[in-house]
Amino acid sequence: MDASSPVRSVVLRIRDVYAFVYCPVYALLLRRYPHKVEMTPQMLRGKVAHEARVEFGRIIVTGRMREMGTEVVIERVVGDLLPRFSPPLSRLEVEEIVREVFEGFSKVLDEYGVPRSADFEVPLRSERLSLVGVIDSVEEGVPVEFKYMSREPGDPEMVQLALYALLMEDRMGVDVDVGYVEDLRRGKRMEVEIGECLRERALRARDDALRVLFTGISVRAERRRRRRCEFCDVRVLCRLIVPRGVRV
Ligand code: SF4
Repeated sequence: MDASSPVRSVVLRIRDVYAFVYCPVYALLLRRYPHKVEMTPQMLRGKVAHEARVEFGRIIVTGRMREMGTEVVIERVVGDLLPRFSPPLSRLEVEEIVREVFEGFSKVLDEYGVPRSADFEVPLRSERLSLVGVIDSVEEGVPVEFKYMSREPGDPEMVQLALYALLMEDRMGVDVDVGYVEDLRRGKRMEVEIGECLRERALRARDDALRVLFTGISVRAERRRRRRCEFCDVRVLCRLIVPRGVRV
């Protein structure tokens, strides 16, 4: 299968394909109103959780967790995040999220152990695949995506992981057969096998996202078909741009 994009001159962010699989309207909002979308409280909480998890991961792989002690580590991560996220979040909110993430991370460590190696926020770009992305963690050669969501991980996360796997194979010359979506709230990992079907689905999603992001869609029609609105980070913004009388 030729993984090259039919639109070779455009490089698409994997987060845009992820958003597109979740909902094409979401992907369009992210693209057209990036500042408003970044400001949603859900996204801010997600960012705190993500950064806390990265920080805990770095501390554990460098062996500093034991020497520092749990409480010191948590306090330090809270202290690092407060100047950036409070306000708009309160100190208490930041601390609650950090503690929640630490509890989840502890469960993951109990199940999977401390990885021998892990890199965090790994940036990759491929002109051949027309894709660019930042992988949350590459753990012993396996991509791991961190999520802090109300819903359970599903199709969008699987496509995202498959695209990361394709990027790693293209840029790092490795084989990637499996990846994980780590649910930061529940402290669980979903194992995703990167098989041929999923690879093809992910590349089709990339091509469809490219087409829609550059040509647009009917928001009203698309919105009526959605079942994911209740979990959506941007439902307030989405309501604002859709004419009155359309049910969410
Ligand atoms: S509120 Fe619904 S239609 Fe709007 S972006 Fe979110 S999932 Fe899509």
